Amino acid sequence: MELHPDIKEVILSEEKIRKRVRELAEQISEDYKGKTPVLVSVLKGSVIFLSDLLRFMKINPKIDFIGVSSYQGKTQTTGEVRLVMDLKDPIYGEDVIIVEDIVDTGLTLEYLRENLLTRKPSSLRICVLLDKIEARKVDVPIDYRGFVIPNKFVVGYGLDYDERYRNIPYIGVLKEEVYKR
Ligand code: 5GP
Repeated sequence: MELHPDIKEVILSEEKIRKRVRELAEQISEDYKGKTPVLVSVLKGSVIFLSDLLRFMKINPKIDFIGVSSYQGKTQTTGEVRLVMDLKDPIYGEDVIIVEDIVDTGLTLEYLRENLLTRKPSSLRICVLLDKIEARKVDVPIDYRGFVIPNKFVVGYGLDYDERYRNIPYIGVLKEEVYKR
């Protein structure tokens, strides 16, 4: 496989991701057997993860989308989380699983968890592909975790830098020079 010219280092290969996403999907399918959970995908970074997860599932979940903003196109968080797009449907009485690409400080997921809990779902769990455990500022319960990764800014598999690199099929770290452009 040819490496994207802006990528310095591959953290997780396509194959590794596929294998782990399949395991997560199987685990969730087992845990929610006979149920119809709502997968709440956090825009935009988690859409590729969501679609792969869905395809490996043996149950029939519903999906919905929620949009939050905290990064404003840079690699540093402002610490402020805002809801920029709400779910289409109510989640009252539903089994909800938040599907997120990455947990860093935990502020985004904490905000989402609190927000969704006020709507009284029957249950609420969190599924993340990547976890930067070292960067955590608030403790948030992660029920399904793909990988623990080092505290580096990563792109690919849906994750962007300034809206770019989402289409790279693996997870990687950008070359320093990209940030200087
Ligand atoms: P937290 O609120 O946990 O600090 O950050 C969560 C959000 O920050 C994620 O949804 C994601 O949008 C963004 N984020 C955190 N780390 C990274 C990273 O390494 N790469 C990219 N592309 N986004 C990140």
